[in-house]
Amino acid sequence: MNIQYLALFFKNLSKISLYLLLSTLYLLRYNKISMIESNFDETPVEPREVSGTPQNEEEIFEVGLRPRTLEEFVGQEELKQGLHIFIQAAKKRGEPIDHTLLYGNPGLGKTTLAHIIANEMEGNIRITSGPALERVGDLAAILSNLQAGDILFIDEIHRMNRAIEEVLYPAMEDFALDLVVGKGPSARTLRLGLEKFTIIGATTRPSLLSSPLRDRFGSTYRLNFYSDDEMGSIVNRSAGILGVPTDKRTCQTIADRSRQTPRIANRLLKRVRDYSQVKHNGELTCDIANSALDMLMIDKLGLDAVDRRILQVIIDKFSGGPVGLTTLAAATQEETASLEEIYEPFLLQLGFIERTPRGRTVTEKGYQHLGLKKPTDTLL
Ligand code: ADP
Repeated sequence: MNIQYLALFFKNLSKISLYLLLSTLYLLRYNKISMIESNFDETPVEPREVSGTPQNEEEIFEVGLRPRTLEEFVGQEELKQGLHIFIQAAKKRGEPIDHTLLYGNPGLGKTTLAHIIANEMEGNIRITSGPALERVGDLAAILSNLQAGDILFIDEIHRMNRAIEEVLYPAMEDFALDLVVGKGPSARTLRLGLEKFTIIGATTRPSLLSSPLRDRFGSTYRLNFYSDDEMGSIVNRSAGILGVPTDKRTCQTIADRSRQTPRIANRLLKRVRDYSQVKHNGELTCDIANSALDMLMIDKLGLDAVDRRILQVIIDKFSGGPVGLTTLAAATQEETASLEEIYEPFLLQLGFIERTPRGRTVTEKGYQHLGLKKPTDTLL
């Protein structure tokens, strides 16, 4: 008897799963049940003051400082011009803008630009991130809930699971969701139409994006590091919003130590403001900013204690290099990935180290920054 019931159950399994799937999609689409969407992944938070990645409480603090229009967005002039035309053209046609990929180092303004685009297009923005999309269902639920003209911002899109990425292809190309129902020979594909929406992907590592995904973005923009003047304007603007009484020169002092990255500039401004409130009743001069930043051990070029230690270790233990990445990681007690992705890029950008096939070497400029002289090569 039981076996008969079991056989009946398995015979109808594909029908049952099809029914369950359709009812879930119905409930999701008409908001009968809600999805809790996590905005950011759980990557360990970087405690460094000069890190471009956001720290714990920072996302809330940043919201108030975020430029809301392209005009307010400082710098990146070429990108802004391109984006302005792109947005105006889409608006004239009455269509959503093409899927857009933004790439650049953390803290340069990718999320801010996504909000600006949504604002200028007068659409809603939904935010998620590659690592937060764990199951195909997560993405299917989000996509089927989007309204026409909505923007789906996917941060760290390069960290998205490949199976989920494949669901995105027809969604981006044909505004359709292909769902496989059932397993084995009885499996069938169900195509569900979606509203016309726009995906804005953000990544710090565009090379890690698969080419089918990269090809589906109609436009791609790169965010560059900001010039000293632009950084000064960003700090000036943020100081105005936060109501910090200060002058342009002081803002430039903070900007100069911020690694050409707005997020770091805003963070340092906040730290300097706290310092001035505790030690100088809120008065903020150039000297006060300098002593606050010295206390945080951030030097004139924005290097912190870890950056300087890396240079020092290569000089002291490996005679200035070359030294391999794993050896250096062991000697500095840092992880190889952190060395490669967090510390090295800025040292390379400043020209303080060089990457050679035999390993990392400290350059003459790197020695000079530590107040040392690079020994001249001697022939044996
Ligand atoms: P990303 O997404 O690239 O990590 P965000 O867009 O979150 O960076 O920017 C971090 C902070 O830096 C934001 O809160 C914003 O206030 C500030 N910011 C970034 N770019 C600019 C800019 N061009 N002008 C003014 N502020 C900026």
